[in-house]
Formats: sequence, C-alpha cells, structure tokens
Amino acid sequence: MLKNDQLDHWDRETFLHPSTNWGQFARGDAPNRIVTGGKGVYIKDRDGNQLLDGFAGLYCVNVGYGRSEIADAIAEQAKELAYYHAYVGHGTEASITLSQMIIDRAPPNMRKVYYGLSGSDANETNIKLVWYYNNVLERPEKKKIISRWRGYHGSGLITGSLTGLELFHKQFDLPLPQVLHTEAPYYFRRPDASMSEMEFSAQCAARLEDLILTEGPETIAAFIGEPALGTGGLVPPPSGYWDAIQSVLRKYDILLIADEVVTGFGRLGSMFGSEHYNIEPDIITSAKGLTSAYAPLSASIVSERVWQVLERGTDTFGPIGHGWTYSAHPIGAAAGVANLKLVDSLELVRNASDTGAYFKATLIEALGSHPNVGEVRGDGLLLAVELVEDREKRTFFDPSRAIGAKVAAHLLQKGVIARAMPQGDILGFAPPLCISREEIDTIVSAMADAVQNVLNFP
Ligand code: PLP
Repeated sequence: MLKNDQLDHWDRETFLHPSTNWGQFARGDAPNRIVTGGKGVYIKDRDGNQLLDGFAGLYCVNVGYGRSEIADAIAEQAKELAYYHAYVGHGTEASITLSQMIIDRAPPNMRKVYYGLSGSDANETNIKLVWYYNNVLERPEKKKIISRWRGYHGSGLITGSLTGLELFHKQFDLPLPQVLHTEAPYYFRRPDASMSEMEFSAQCAARLEDLILTEGPETIAAFIGEPALGTGGLVPPPSGYWDAIQSVLRKYDILLIADEVVTGFGRLGSMFGSEHYNIEPDIITSAKGLTSAYAPLSASIVSERVWQVLERGTDTFGPIGHGWTYSAHPIGAAAGVANLKLVDSLELVRNASDTGAYFKATLIEALGSHPNVGEVRGDGLLLAVELVEDREKRTFFDPSRAIGAKVAAHLLQKGVIARAMPQGDILGFAPPLCISREEIDTIVSAMADAVQNVLNFP
C-alpha cells in the first residue's frame, strides 16, 4: 500500500480537484482527505478518521455506503457484459428494466427515458430536446431558456449558464446569450419583510411574466427549476410558488423542466419533488439518487407531450442526432436497478419523510431561538440552517468572515460532515436516506456545539 506522504505528494502535484482553490492546494495550503471506505452513514479516511456524512457525499449516496446488493449487481454485470452501447436500438436487460422502473415511479404523465452520466449532461440533453421540439413545431425563434438566480443545473457551457451562481460564471464568459435568469423563490431573503409567502410567490410569477413579455413570449422555449433550490441555499418554495409559475408558463406555451437531480427518488420524502409540490413538468432531470452514486448515471425523463413531438421529429428528420458513448452504460443501469429495489425494500422514501421531520424538529429545538439563526428550513432530508448577523432585521454576515465555513470546520472536528453552501452562511444537511434518529441526534448536538463555539452562544 502506498504511504500517505507519497499519495499526498502525487495528489498535490498532479490532481486538479473540482471546486478547489487550485493554487493553494498545489502549494499544500489547503487540506486534502484520502477517503478509504464507507458503511451506512459513515465514511473513513487514511488518517483513521470516521466521519458521519451529513451530506451523503454530494447529496447522492441515498441508500448509504457499503451496500453489497449494489456492489454485487455491478460486479455481476461487469463480468457478464461490462459494456455495450445503446445506439440504434441496442440495450441490455438492466437498461431496459431500469427504464420501466423509472417510468413506474415517475409522475403519471412521464413516458420515456434518455440516459447520460451526470446531472450536467442530462440538462444538456434536455436543452437540446427543447430546441429540437421547437424546430419540429416550426418555431425556430422559440429557443431561450429561463432559470432562477441561485438555481444549480450543472457546470457545463449551457448548464453552467443556467446555474444562477456567480462563481460558476465568473471568468468563464458565461452565461451564454440564450439563457436568462429570474428571481429566486427565496422567501427568507424577500425584499419586503411584511410580504406574505403568497404575495412573494405572486411577485416571483409577475417578475417572470415581465421578463417573458420583455423578451417576447415567442422567443422563450423553457423554464428550468429545482422543485426546492439546492446548491443555491436549500430553499423549499414558498406557498403558492409553483402554481403561480406554472400558470404563467402555460399562458405562454413554455415548457417546464423540473431539475430533480437532488430531489428525485426520495430526498424530500416523496418519490419526486414534482409530486411533493404539485408540479407537472414536461421533462424531469434525474441523476444522483438514481444509482445512489454507486455508478455514474443520469436520466432525462420525457413527458407524453414532448414525446409526441419527438416522435414526429424523428419520423420526419430521421434518427436523433444526439448520443453519448456511455449512454445507458450497463454497469450504471445495473446499479440503478439494484439501488431502486433497495429504496423500495428499505422504505427509504418514508424514512426520508419521518426522520426528516424529526431532524427538522430537533434542529429547531436546539437552535431555533439562537440570535444568529435566521431560519431552519427544508423538507424531508434536505435541510438548512441559515446564520445571520441580526435575526430580526435579517442582516447577513460579511462574507469575508466565512461564518458558514467556520461552523462546517468545527462540525468536522466533531466528526460530522455538513456542507457550507457556496452563497451565504448556510449549513446544509442532506444525509443518506437510511439515517436513524440516533445519528440525527449526533449531528444536531454537534451543530449546536459548533454554532455556540463559532458565534459564542451566550
Ligand atoms: N442539477 C442539480 C439540481 C444539481 O444539484 C446538480 C449537482 O449537484 C446538477 C444538476 C449537476 O449534476 P452533476 O454534478 O452530476 O453534473
């Protein structure tokens, strides 16, 4: 086995890690962690630390670590047939079975599945499908896509543009001109404190309508949004939000893409976030929870309405000009089938709902009255604690104080991983859906301690 110092040297010399300060890392000024194993909600590293993963990797290891059922399915598939492509009608038992399993679990109007490897490439596929759709309908000018500030949809060229976080645009010549952004449904940060949730939702819908009218409805193809905002702050929608948004979209014949990369397959305590918030999407993006990240796989799930136009399009123009070598990769598909079976047999959707409610209640009990806790929010096992300088006035800490990052660092010292979200002092919790109440108690007590430590709880 390689020594830690050898690995450390190679790591710093050769490896460009995502979302990392590359210069600092290369010079040894930023930490690394070499992860060696995982079981249930815990991971361990080469320095002998065992950490309770309160963010399930990147909110993706929904069934928890070390599930031999999925590992065995992957191994059997690799031995039997590690790869064959899915072009021109090829498939495997795993990819075909998984397609049926996805449609059986998706909202009722969903009909077909196109596979990729990541949430980003699935959204890339979705935008191409939307453009194709409008070309088939002979509306070549109807191509712009609206997303929200603070939305997260990936970090490719079009998907990084859809993402509404500055960091993902800065220095990359993004967003591309086909992408427009509208107001985030972030009630806690509403401009006027006296507004009710319904009023704020109506304002978001009115802003969206203004943007559509300014640009010209004949130029707007689709709206993309996460049912509950993820990376942008873990924010569930305010009351009435999705009803108000959907009625604007219907009025101007604009497609709705529900980006369920995080919320798909149980995280909110419902199989899909669309179900949870009464959303009727035309396309659903899914990834993470589809395989619990045991293998890379994403799925673009297409509705009957979109499918009818795609069918007409290929009848007219021939085979679709869109394919990835690894689309429907047999190993990913085998992982997906085994994973979804586990989600069912362990009743993880129900657990996300029940233990999620317990988690939120215990967080509120432990931290709800702290003067620097602005809000404890979330649904199912997608929860956040937002820290503020002044709770009543909702004034935020100066970002240079990095309060969120300090709280996360303190939690880590206590053996708990939470995510300091990239914009604001927001601690995110999205543990594996199999988490127990005892494990939640461990997280909450570490969080109370961390907040007290960083902010000197009186
Ligand atoms: N969409 C959402 C809602 C996400 O949260 C993410 C990743 O976190 C993506 C898309 C991009 O997925 P990936 O990182 O697999 O490309």
